[in-house]
Amino acid sequence: MAAALQAIRGLSLTCLLSSLLLQACRSLGEGLTWDENGYVLYCPCMGRFGNQADHFLGSLAFAKMLNRTLAVPPWIVYRHHTPPYTNVHVPYNELFQLEALSAYHRVVSLEDFMKKLAPKHWPPEQRNAYCFESAAQRSEDKKSCPMKDGNPFGPFWDYVGVEFKKSVLFGGISFSAYHQPQWMKKFPPSEHPVLALPGAPAQFPVLEEHVGLQRYVVWSDKMVKEGEEHISALLTRPYVGIHLRIGVDWQNACKLLKDGETGPHFMASPQCVGYNRQTALPLSMTMCLPDLAEIRRAVKLWVKKTSARSVYIATDSDSHAADVEKLFKGKVKVVSLQPDSAQTDLYVLGRADHFIGNCVSSFSAFVKRERDVRGLPSSFFGMDKPGKLNRRDEL
Ligand code: GDP
Ligand code: MN
Repeated sequence: MAAALQAIRGLSLTCLLSSLLLQACRSLGEGLTWDENGYVLYCPCMGRFGNQADHFLGSLAFAKMLNRTLAVPPWIVYRHHTPPYTNVHVPYNELFQLEALSAYHRVVSLEDFMKKLAPKHWPPEQRNAYCFESAAQRSEDKKSCPMKDGNPFGPFWDYVGVEFKKSVLFGGISFSAYHQPQWMKKFPPSEHPVLALPGAPAQFPVLEEHVGLQRYVVWSDKMVKEGEEHISALLTRPYVGIHLRIGVDWQNACKLLKDGETGPHFMASPQCVGYNRQTALPLSMTMCLPDLAEIRRAVKLWVKKTSARSVYIATDSDSHAADVEKLFKGKVKVVSLQPDSAQTDLYVLGRADHFIGNCVSSFSAFVKRERDVRGLPSSFFGMDKPGKLNRRDEL
């Protein structure tokens, strides 16, 4: 696998140097050829980055299951409090290498699909939307997929440059592997070449069998360069990275747990309590919303265990940097960058010598999965020794 990834990384260079690998280069977007097995298009319309990433892994698996090329959507970034005060669509390859996905399955960026393939193979009059009957129920005529209703739906398909002509409804099936034959039978690619969906054909949180697909999500060179620069400029190894998900929206979410309205499975919590509902460990309030005492306890423990010389704090709110600094009487450097792009935090957390995450957060889950792929250690607030739950290798 490592060799295959290495080979793919080298491919863009090879494309320049040699025309012998024309076939391989094509798949990287130069002279794109139409895939007769069809395509899956979707809007990552639920949640912010962590949710979109969970959905992305499931969607990748769904496209492979149907043997269709996945048109990889941009990330939707909500910029409602800082310029440009609207949604920004960030192409996948600005953050991650599109080519690295090809080791698992055929992909094309949604932007390239629209620019290079759609004009000829998916002309405007053939642009059908596909959705659950239940979703269409919400429309006026009860027969139309709500593809562009509201935010982020409308702005997304406008960014892609698509108006939908017709709706094709389905029911009685799910996106799980169990329904693969029904999908193939209902929507053969000869009649339905492009399955365009209003949301991700996947579950949240990501299914256990798809957690390992994280290995194909590889940071772009630009992100690596930027991230490594921050690490060498600010931190001394070993360093402990922590994710403080403690802002107001999170306090409200964790109230549901406190009020007993959720079981142990609450948002991303299967990553630490276990995916099996029958055997799931209890989910405590500290795991959802660590208080200052727990933050201090966990940081102290892991700084000691790893002989850390610095601590990196990523947060959606207050960094508590001064409180953490006090624990070590100036002997440990405490850094909180509060970067403009959340992915910078993800990168630095991903490379830490130890990571303390939030069990319920899908933002933390992204870091945990990436670290599992690399064999790096992680724990959670309220849970110092999570089981090796994410190690199953389904490939
Ligand atoms: P979840 O809500 O924790 O499951 O994760 P999401 O990613 O879906 O939503 C949380 C969002 O809040 C992130 O995408 C970020 O935009 C922001 N956020 C949360 N924690 C951090 C953090 O530590 N650093 C930065 N920069 N942003 C964060
Ligand atoms: Mn969220």
